[in-house]
Amino acid sequence: MSTPVTLIPGDGIGPEVVNAAVEAVDAAGAKLSWERAAAGAGAVATHGTPIPAETLESIRRNRLALKGPLATPVGEGYRSVNVALRKEFDLYANIRPARSFAGVETRYTGVDLIVIRENTQGLYSGVEHYIDEERTAAESISIITRKGSERIIEYAFRYCKENHRRRLTLVHKANILKCTSGLFLDCGRAMAQKHPEVEFREMIVDNCATQLVKNPQQFDVIVTTNLFGDILSDLTSGLIGGLGLTAGANIGREAALFEAVHGTAPDIAGKGIANPTAVMLAGVMLLEHIGERTAADRLSTAIREAIASKEAITPDLGGSATTRMFTQAVLKRLR
Ligand code: NAD
Repeated sequence: MSTPVTLIPGDGIGPEVVNAAVEAVDAAGAKLSWERAAAGAGAVATHGTPIPAETLESIRRNRLALKGPLATPVGEGYRSVNVALRKEFDLYANIRPARSFAGVETRYTGVDLIVIRENTQGLYSGVEHYIDEERTAAESISIITRKGSERIIEYAFRYCKENHRRRLTLVHKANILKCTSGLFLDCGRAMAQKHPEVEFREMIVDNCATQLVKNPQQFDVIVTTNLFGDILSDLTSGLIGGLGLTAGANIGREAALFEAVHGTAPDIAGKGIANPTAVMLAGVMLLEHIGERTAADRLSTAIREAIASKEAITPDLGGSATTRMFTQAVLKRLR
């Protein structure tokens, strides 16, 4: 029996990199059946909306999706199609691993950490307005609940145990944001008592930014609120070579959506030179999520070896290979 997965090619370089990722995931040996679905700016032309109902139904049915980057059309009633999808399926946990690649030159070696970001609350709750017609001032409300905090922190502790990670750092700003960040920190402290096998640390977000660039190897798993997680996970992408190499998972109780962290890259769309690594690594995360560990490890190793060999790397990594050439370099390691 194959596992059905909703496949959203997306906009810009999306279809190029997603097709490459599908080939690689299939070659890794997992039995998946792909159900193609439209979303983003391209879906407005074909379906009259950036999030067609049949796409939502497909995700609801399969509970699993692999997604390319989406452009949010201007004036279509959505702030962001990505945020709308996260809200629709209550995808409360955003997981972004950052692990150094052999062969990719960066300032650091041996980085191997994961940022777990709360994906639905905080300053992204959407409660924001100007206080007067002249727009002389604006305010935004950060909503943090005990329930929302406990479920993401519980997820992070569980993640540590299931993935043999020993240290969890909770990142906050409770010295200033005494109620919102304070509640998140209180929840973390209480839950740490129930998980003594995981070393629990707390760190103020500004210090965390300094520590990440001074000594990223000290971190294992980080859990934090929405805005801090958004910023810190881009920082950690930068530690290992940039957004083109970073995948992310959005996990909820009803569905899980895997994606590249980068956008639609309109400057190189259609040129056949996009790096498909990030979507391929999103495929690795999907395989891990459904328990296909062997296929996940095979694919991860093939991608890393292909990059390290430098035989066919794309222009963003300093090479001159096409998407196709890099994909072939991955595929030949899976045969
Ligand atoms: P971007 O990530 O698309 O591009 C930034 C730079 O990185 C560009 O120079 C681009 O060529 C390069 N790049 C990105 N991915 C690459 C890859 N796989 N291979 C090689 N080079 C790559 O960011 P942006 O320009 O700020 O955003 C463009 C569009 O993407 C916007 O409409 C934005 O809303 C959307 N976006 C979507 C998502 C998503 O769907 N998850 C995420 C970010 C941005």
